[in-house]
Amino acid sequence: MAELLFDADYLERMEEEAFLQASDRMDAGCQVVGVYCAFTPKELIAAARAIPVSLCGSSENTIADAEAHLPRNLCPLIKSSYGFALTDTCPYFHEAQFVLADATCDGKKKMFELLGRIKPVHLLHLPQTADTREAFQYWLQELHKVKALLEEQTGRPITAESIREQIRLYNEFRRTAEKVFEFNRGEVPLFYGREINRITSPAGFECNIPWRIAEMRQAMDRGRKRAENSDFRRMMARKPRILLTGCPATNKKILNAIEENGGVVAAMENCGGLKALQMMVREDMDPLEALAERYLAVACPCMTPNTKRLDLIGRIIENYHIDGVVELIWQACHTYNIEAYQVREYVTNQCGRPYLQIETDYSEADSPRIKLRIDAFLELFN
Ligand code: SF4
Ligand code: SF4
Repeated sequence: MAELLFDADYLERMEEEAFLQASDRMDAGCQVVGVYCAFTPKELIAAARAIPVSLCGSSENTIADAEAHLPRNLCPLIKSSYGFALTDTCPYFHEAQFVLADATCDGKKKMFELLGRIKPVHLLHLPQTADTREAFQYWLQELHKVKALLEEQTGRPITAESIREQIRLYNEFRRTAEKVFEFNRGEVPLFYGREINRITSPAGFECNIPWRIAEMRQAMDRGRKRAENSDFRRMMARKPRILLTGCPATNKKILNAIEENGGVVAAMENCGGLKALQMMVREDMDPLEALAERYLAVACPCMTPNTKRLDLIGRIIENYHIDGVVELIWQACHTYNIEAYQVREYVTNQCGRPYLQIETDYSEADSPRIKLRIDAFLELFN
């Protein structure tokens, strides 16, 4: 396998740089606001000149501590996130003045009640459907409350113009990140999925979006050079192109396992991947309404029905010339696990592609078994 241009150190360097930049902003009185979900409009936080930071836990190290309060039979993402808060081992959570949390799945909602004992939590009451006018109005009211809360906490008024400015900036971030993904739409993929994940990550504190956009553009320049490397193209052409869907790929074990065993994750549909990136916020209407419209449309299985996700998967399969689909289910995530039936049906019957579902947690205990299943799946394309 060719050496990765963007390894784990690349992302660590980005995070360290973002940390330094955020420290200056914090010293100047800027607050940090933690978020856990793709439904939270970070543009509003940034419009109050506060710093958004995503807090979803990706490591198993804090899970044993979390299990002192939470059931063992719970999604590892929730346990890991709570464990970091409980043990005060996440510098991002540590710095956050408060948390904006969305009422999504049952596990997260109930965890947030306990999290509120550690740090102030404001819960955004998310409707269960995105398809009605009433749901939109309800969600818009929630965003008005968040805006008022941010103004009160930061002491800074949020104007329509300051929201518009952040909408433009975040749209540019999303457009640029989507362009990174699009390097994999051609005859051969030019980036490994692991690389895309690192290049397009907001990298911790989101305090300097223009800098992250510039970094992504530099990364794309390196990708263009690869396009001229015939050895690299030949090697990539032999690899099955996999779409990774399902639960957020916070922990990278499945992404790594696919690519370490001969596949290339040509696209990711999960939160953090194309699901959130391909949706822009409209710039030609009332900014709060535009945020409400865009964020309510996130194709998460917490919504019912959630047909937009299937449409997106179908488009990605076509546009990225996907050979097979792997769906990641974190253990005890009923939300994704039940929807997986429809995803499998759609992928195999409508799109005519092989589908593999893997249910796992953050530990490495099942890695040999997962390797065997992924090997067998990738064999289908030889
Ligand atoms: S999958 Fe749904 S609940 Fe989980 S982070 Fe994404 S939008 Fe939020
Ligand atoms: S992976 Fe599933 S159970 Fe875990 S937080 Fe997301 S929706 Fe909830």
